[in-house]
Amino acid sequence: MDINYTPEDEVFRSEVKTFLEAELPKDLSDKVRAGQKLDGEDFMRWQRILGQKGWLAPRWPQEHGGCGWTPMQVNIFDEEAYLAGAPRVLPFGVNMVGPVIIEFGSEDQKARHLPGIARGEVPWCQGFSEPGSGSDLASLKTAAVRDGDDFIVNGQKIWTSYAHFSDWMFCLVRTDPNAAKKQQGISFLLIDMKTPGITVRPIITFDGMHSVNEVFLEKVRVPAENLVGEENKGWDYAKFLLGHERTGIAGVGGCKAEFEKLLEIARTEKKNGKPLIEDPLFAAKIARLEIDLRALELTNMRMLSGSGTGLNGAFPSVLKIKGTEVQQRIAELQMDAVGVHALPWQQAAMDPAWNSGTVGPDYAIPRMPAYIDRRKATIYGGSTEIQKNIISKALLS
Ligand SMILES: Cc1cc2nc3c(=O)[nH]c(=O)nc-3n(C[C@H](O)[C@H](O)[C@H](O)COP(=O)(O)OP(=O)(O)OC[C@H]3O[C@@H](n4cnc5c(N)ncnc54)[C@H](O)[C@@H]3O)c2cc1C
Repeated sequence: MDINYTPEDEVFRSEVKTFLEAELPKDLSDKVRAGQKLDGEDFMRWQRILGQKGWLAPRWPQEHGGCGWTPMQVNIFDEEAYLAGAPRVLPFGVNMVGPVIIEFGSEDQKARHLPGIARGEVPWCQGFSEPGSGSDLASLKTAAVRDGDDFIVNGQKIWTSYAHFSDWMFCLVRTDPNAAKKQQGISFLLIDMKTPGITVRPIITFDGMHSVNEVFLEKVRVPAENLVGEENKGWDYAKFLLGHERTGIAGVGGCKAEFEKLLEIARTEKKNGKPLIEDPLFAAKIARLEIDLRALELTNMRMLSGSGTGLNGAFPSVLKIKGTEVQQRIAELQMDAVGVHALPWQQAAMDPAWNSGTVGPDYAIPRMPAYIDRRKATIYGGSTEIQKNIISKALLS
């Protein structure tokens, strides 16, 4: 593929910049730039703005509300949005269940769910992991038993991100406990979170944040029309979805914006009276990181353009590992760059009401929380070890 920007790409870039200048609310970009916590409404407000413009689902076919952008345009939008301080788009609707419904859903499911996702109006969450069934996801136990036109669902999900403000959950359930292989007895259900029998309990992570939850399902009645594709074929749809999830986790646009922030900090901080960026050891670390970031970007574009292996191959796993490693190294270097000012753990600084600036420069305050936050990327979407297993099976055996 040609990786140079064409004159048309540059016209598109200025259209994106104009849109962001006009439509990205300043209070949101201020929060993002200051590294403060975003609540559900912050995420959804930005998604609705993108949805109204028709720019929330760049990779969907146009007939379903997608943008019809080229891979270069997707890349440009991502880059500019993050540089402008836009909140990230929550992936669960648009990048995860959306593609599954488009590929495997019924016409009714498409008509019912895709417009709300593309308009950014309906938040979704992912009910895959269970206590004891994370890496070994196919061992999941949440049971769905047929009862007339419904399934009755009983079980528990865990680590369910943003379940506390989601309207719907896409969920893996066991519909055949006697299947010869555990992967063969799993189905993919769409569950309305307002259905009686669902309890969401928060899990507060050790950084004091609330993004993940436990979800308990007790005699939850789910209409059989909410089954996606065929009964007991859910594992195939889950693998398809995980390919999209892992590709998205690589987060190239976010990495580029954070890398720019790193450069800004390294130009401002001083070592031996000179800008830190002129220190040969630090400059070498930045150079190494920039090479890896560029390689990540190119690999991502190869993936988006369809050159190389398809979504179900090893590509998403490679992107997930490299993307999360780059994110973590950027956060680490940002922390190194601000030195002792990254040391105080200032929980209150994550709150928009925080207005101090007494401990070091403002840009230093979110460095430690960001560093801690990025560590979890090794685990979610399938841990690094599991991705390595997938790559070795796909490429080496
Ligand atoms: C912040 C966060 C958000 C999440 N959001 C969601 C969500 O929205 N929805 C959802 O369904 N899930 C979510 N998850 C769950 C996530 O997918 C699982 O945590 C992950 O798959 C690991 O499963 P586990 O926690 O059960 O760990 P385990 O499977 O118990 O793994 C523990 C450790 O053992 C290693 N390990 C396990 N098996 C192997 C093996 N065969 N070979 C080598 N090493 C192995 C793992 O790499 C890991 O380091 C989230 C997790 C986190 C941390």
